Amino acid sequence: AEQTYDVVIIGAGGAGFSAALEAKQAGASVVLLEKMPSVGGNTLISGGEMNAANTWVQKKLGIEDSTELFIEDTLKGGDNVGDPEMVRVLAENATAAAEWLKDEVKVNFLEDHLFQFGGHSVKRALIPEGHTGAELITKLKTHLDEMGIDLKTNTKAEKLLTDDSGKVIGVEAAGANGGTITFHANKGVIIASGGFGSNVEMRKQYNPEYDEKYMTTDAPGTTGDGIVMAQAIGAALTNMESIQTYPVCNPKTGVISLVADSRFDGAILVNQSGQRFVEELERRDVISKAILAQEGGYAYQLWNQEIGDISKTVDTHKDEYEMLVKDGLLYKADTLKEAAEFFKIDPEALQATIDRVNKFAKSGKDEDFKHRAGLKDMSKGPYYIQKAVPSVHHTMGGLVINKTTEVLNEQGQPIPGLFAAGEVTGVIHGKNRLGGNAIADAITFGRIAGQQVAK
Ligand code: ADP
Repeated sequence: AEQTYDVVIIGAGGAGFSAALEAKQAGASVVLLEKMPSVGGNTLISGGEMNAANTWVQKKLGIEDSTELFIEDTLKGGDNVGDPEMVRVLAENATAAAEWLKDEVKVNFLEDHLFQFGGHSVKRALIPEGHTGAELITKLKTHLDEMGIDLKTNTKAEKLLTDDSGKVIGVEAAGANGGTITFHANKGVIIASGGFGSNVEMRKQYNPEYDEKYMTTDAPGTTGDGIVMAQAIGAALTNMESIQTYPVCNPKTGVISLVADSRFDGAILVNQSGQRFVEELERRDVISKAILAQEGGYAYQLWNQEIGDISKTVDTHKDEYEMLVKDGLLYKADTLKEAAEFFKIDPEALQATIDRVNKFAKSGKDEDFKHRAGLKDMSKGPYYIQKAVPSVHHTMGGLVINKTTEVLNEQGQPIPGLFAAGEVTGVIHGKNRLGGNAIADAITFGRIAGQQVAK
């Protein structure tokens, strides 16, 4: 079967949806291909938070921020391996992208709460209603339908088609009923197929450390298809060895814990001996490595009701909370002693740790690990204690794109007709992606790709 559109987009996550809407808005006919039965990818199952500087929420909360500070944090967070020019494009366009989500796509963001993920100097992550990517994907999908854009699920892109000059002119895909469909693209193809966190073989190929011992937080569709397809026609890859683990995940499934977002409001991490071992707002790679270095390679996250009342993660992520409790991975205790005993931690050691935390909360200075937001007093119960391990979460490497999201070949030249955006690209996050920067990346560059391809 053959079908013809102006623009063919591979992957229906945050980047693919944003690209599709912009390309259509610019007048192009668009088809969005998704290999899974349902849309959303990693965007859907993420917390959905999105960084941007000088947003309406920052203004309302009186938080001072700047594009330059956002750039600085992002580059520094990735050990200065990210491309400064591309990070600038991200930071300069993320605010407009967030406003677009709010005003055009009708995404509801919390009006009076922001996250400050590790590595950020200020609170700058917008939080969608429900604290997950579901709010983003639901609204993006509604908008896609309203605009009459064709979406083909169960349709897996397998090959990029080129003409004699090397220009990308379409995509060959495996259709829902098994047959091959050729999608001709008059204007171009956008790859928005996400990363390769779910592909253990590919992880090992680029970094043997991330083998089977790690589970993954990622959606099953993130198998690096777009990277492999583009490489087959000469695209350059970069930063492929940089693979990120998320520190606080379910020890049974590898799934990210959103209940544990209480960490951003003061929850602490302790080991089996009841001792803190890392600053809780450190970078994900630092915390992950620190957890793996503890006895058993796991940690416990501990917080009290006062912290819980601020973060509200137990109510917000009720299903996850109940599942963790049922599986014996999270316990709510009236007293600290009871919390310690549930996981066979020495109660006196844990009490000593909390006494120190309370002392540092009072003085405003964490003498042990320099908690950047300041520790909170935890003398009063009830307490929540949760067991956690790190799990593969994001692949920072991928395709090389330029400011207009054109995919570059090994010689640094744009491959005509080929664009890419989101986790499939490798130029922004360097060695370590900061929290809230994946959604910012996917939406911001997805929009740019959609606008550019339609030109
Ligand atoms: P991003 O955040 O960059 O948008 P996501 O992980 O949210 O990335 O979305 C990527 C989407 O691409 C996922 O829904 C995934 O199933 C889809 N995808 C991956 N490979 C293919 C492919 N070969 N054909 C079609 N869709 C794909």
